[in-house]
Amino acid sequence: MDPNIPIEHLPGVGNYFGGKLKKLEIKTLEDLIYHFPFRYDDFSQISLVSNLTPGEKISIQGVLWKIQNIRTRSGKFVTSATVADESGTIDVIWFNQPYLTKVLKAGLAVSLSGKVQLDGYKPKLVSPSYEIIRSTSNQLPATSYQQPVTSNQTLHTGRLVPIYPETEGLSSKWLRAKIANFLPVYKDLTKDFLPKKIIEDQKLEPQNSALQKIHFPKSYEDVTEARKRLAFDEVFLLQLISLIKQIEWKSTRIAPKMNVKKETIEKFKKNLPFELTSAQQRAIGEIVNDLKSEQPANRLLEGDVGSGKTVVAAVAALTALDNGFDSLIAAPTEILAFQHQKTLNEILKPFEIKVGIWTGSKKQKANITCGTHALLTSFKPQRQIGFVVVDEQHRFGVTQRAKLFLSHNSELTPHLLTMTATPIPRTLALTLYGDLNLSTLDKMPKGRQKISTFVVPNSKRNNAYKFIEKHVREGRQAFILTPFVEPSETMATVKSATVEFEKLKTKFPKKVKLGLLHGRLKSQEKETIIGNFKKGKIDILVATPVVEVGIDIPNATIMLIESADRFGLAQLHQLRGRVGRGEHKSYCFLFTDSHFETSIRRLKSMEKLHAGFELAEVDLKMRGPGEILGLRQSGFIGFKIADISDHQTIATAQTEAKKLLKLDPSLSRHQLLSQKLESLKLAYSEPN
Ligand code: ADP
Ligand code: MG
Repeated sequence: MDPNIPIEHLPGVGNYFGGKLKKLEIKTLEDLIYHFPFRYDDFSQISLVSNLTPGEKISIQGVLWKIQNIRTRSGKFVTSATVADESGTIDVIWFNQPYLTKVLKAGLAVSLSGKVQLDGYKPKLVSPSYEIIRSTSNQLPATSYQQPVTSNQTLHTGRLVPIYPETEGLSSKWLRAKIANFLPVYKDLTKDFLPKKIIEDQKLEPQNSALQKIHFPKSYEDVTEARKRLAFDEVFLLQLISLIKQIEWKSTRIAPKMNVKKETIEKFKKNLPFELTSAQQRAIGEIVNDLKSEQPANRLLEGDVGSGKTVVAAVAALTALDNGFDSLIAAPTEILAFQHQKTLNEILKPFEIKVGIWTGSKKQKANITCGTHALLTSFKPQRQIGFVVVDEQHRFGVTQRAKLFLSHNSELTPHLLTMTATPIPRTLALTLYGDLNLSTLDKMPKGRQKISTFVVPNSKRNNAYKFIEKHVREGRQAFILTPFVEPSETMATVKSATVEFEKLKTKFPKKVKLGLLHGRLKSQEKETIIGNFKKGKIDILVATPVVEVGIDIPNATIMLIESADRFGLAQLHQLRGRVGRGEHKSYCFLFTDSHFETSIRRLKSMEKLHAGFELAEVDLKMRGPGEILGLRQSGFIGFKIADISDHQTIATAQTEAKKLLKLDPSLSRHQLLSQKLESLKLAYSEPN
């Protein structure tokens, strides 16, 4: 048998359960064994029935004295039993499980785990999990329970009982039984893929023992040891995949080797209407340096909204042009593509360069062309593309991103710069991208002000509207993001936005002009509304939360966000960055219906923290990496066990991965590991 045998081929599983297991992403025996408990019920202490505290979760072991079904007047079944151990007897009841009398018969020794309730003043065990330990004779000598039953004979009771992610029709009990059944089989089929040296150096559990301990621990120490090993595996394997891909990439792909003309860069800087920040200077130095090499650049440029990423990309595109290569700048939406075109046209004016546009609705090629997804589908380059920028990468699928910089050129691979305002904490970036080069714009241009942010209680909603009205009267503008309904622009979202819009109209005097923007509008309609907002014909732009409002409107000074708890902090920070782009003091109001103390506390960090990075760290700690904007959609497969903010494990795993590849680059001396990677490569789709 193979550890990757389809799950439905296993005895006792079949197509019926196989189908259900697929809902839990369990397709093979190995998937089943790697379906880990997310917590344990501690039933490890066996209590005596004479010594039970009502309200507590306990385990008892004893002999069933009697068991019978009673039919209540409403026609329901109650199964009533009495169980005895050496200290006395206790009554046990179950509801609506009449079949229990077929399984549990008087005379059987059983292990029961559950909650004790008081029936009058008598303790009673209600709906416990049960397990038969062994049969005794039909006669019931009073001493038959006196041989102690050891707890490691049980699976569902009397121990640390693993609780698994479940799905309809597949209980933890079912999963537990199957895992207990097949774990020994799996252990026999596999050998530890981790090199012995690493296991020893890092003091890790061997694979089989880690798997045993994660599912059926004898103590919480067992769980800790198992998790340490399994977390290491996850990070280590992901690192290896990413490093190997990188080595392959570097050895097979050749990029245009460019000369960097100092005069061009000097001229560019001299003609800018502002001075570059030190962070921009550094980032420009880094990306321009990448272009000198025939190794394709793969750099991530991170910087808050407004930190000035576009100029960095512009310098690199100019350098490419100096060397006779064209550039592409891909944005996630049409509006952003147009905005890039406009910005670049302005800053490149001194060079008499016209910037092109390539979207669904407008197509105009140039040596530097901004565009949307349309660049992937309908764009045919005139010359070799030497440099590609992908802005707001999380909006592009991973495979699309790869395609974008491969499809345009058969011989030369363009240098790639990915820009994002989503602050990906360094640990996460390292984990996701291995050795990806990272440039960070950690300084904001001079004169940018902090946006005063408040989590506003619902009772003060009208004050917020009054505040907006006052600012509108002074000539300012505002955004109101409608309540979050669904993470995509479905009709439900649009409908709720429309209702909100009608409601808001009644909250403001007639002369305050409101406009509604949602994702179901035609691109042309969107442009018109945004155009009107820009021109000041609309005072308050009401928008659905998912609509891209990445537009520069210096006169907008208030951002009001409903259902703020539904967003990641990094996302909220980006939304807040839509205001505060001009000379006026700006504000952000956050509303929430959540009463959870942690949600409020999380939102409150928006009041204190004003750097995207810090906010992302808070999110990472409080909500985990999946919640960081877009990661789920981006094809990144989350860890089951490893903690993404665990710098120590990530750093160690990376060091070990690099060390190993240095010694054995092709892994020819580590066959088991190599096979393991092959089977995983299909699953991990994040390329470098
Ligand atoms: P983002 O990083 O959000 O993409 P942009 O590149 O769009 O930021 O820049 C935001 C605005 O700041 C633009 O209007 C740009 O011209 C301006 N800007 C960029 N760098 C500086 C700077 N060093 N000083 C002042 N303004 C700058
Ligand atoms: Mg930008």
